[in-house]
Amino acid sequence: MKPKLLIVDLDGVVWLGAKPIKENVEALKKLQEEGFKLHFITNNSTSPRIHYARRLETLGVKTSPDNVTTSGRAASLWARESYGKLKVYTIGEEGLVEELIIEGHEIVSRGSEAEALIVGLDRRLCYDKLVEALKALSKGAPFIATNTDNILPTEEGPIPGAGSIVEALKAASGRDPDFIAGKPNPWILEVALKGYNVSVNDTIVIGDRVDTDVEMALKAGAKPVLVLTGIASTMSPQEVEILRSKKVLVVRNLTELYASLKD
Ligand SMILES: [Mg+2]
Repeated sequence: MKPKLLIVDLDGVVWLGAKPIKENVEALKKLQEEGFKLHFITNNSTSPRIHYARRLETLGVKTSPDNVTTSGRAASLWARESYGKLKVYTIGEEGLVEELIIEGHEIVSRGSEAEALIVGLDRRLCYDKLVEALKALSKGAPFIATNTDNILPTEEGPIPGAGSIVEALKAASGRDPDFIAGKPNPWILEVALKGYNVSVNDTIVIGDRVDTDVEMALKAGAKPVLVLTGIASTMSPQEVEILRSKKVLVVRNLTELYASLKD
């Protein structure tokens, strides 16, 4: 049976920083018209889901916040399912904070009060936040990361990602994260599939990174598609061949994928 649910990465697939990737957006719209369901997964925890949904709507892709899963939602849900509602010290932006509140966690302002530390990308990171986070880690609080991508692609080149902040805390505490919620962990895919009556084997995962998108799809048993529009755009033909031998569908852009799925 032809998969009807497409799990689509955002950065490097739908847009690059502020700039939409037009050919991919057009193909996604056509796939929606053909009856494919789209669900978007991003390791970027900075914005609330509604922000991503609205941005997709502006591009003409029909989306609601329920069609978006961020690493912030995946981290918050995992913490709640594993420990219940927690007092959390967090390094992160609005998107992560909102997901923590949705799951009923309480945000505390001191690491010494925290029952868990949850770390995502924070573009207003300051030394004091690292100090409080280290206090939480020193007393043994679970160390949860939204993701460990060291960089984030933008149209002006890479910027430091959540992984760079996690590395600072690893160095300070001598601890590794206890849980990394985002891609390549299949957990975030499991979260995304809640609410769809679709088995993971009937799901296509579309992304621009081998170490996160493709890795997650292979681990979970979904069908991986690598699109050469974001980080993967600099891949050599040899690297592409190796991926194809692992049953990864490699496409230049989503117009190519649309052509192969359309009938
Ligand atoms: Mg990406």
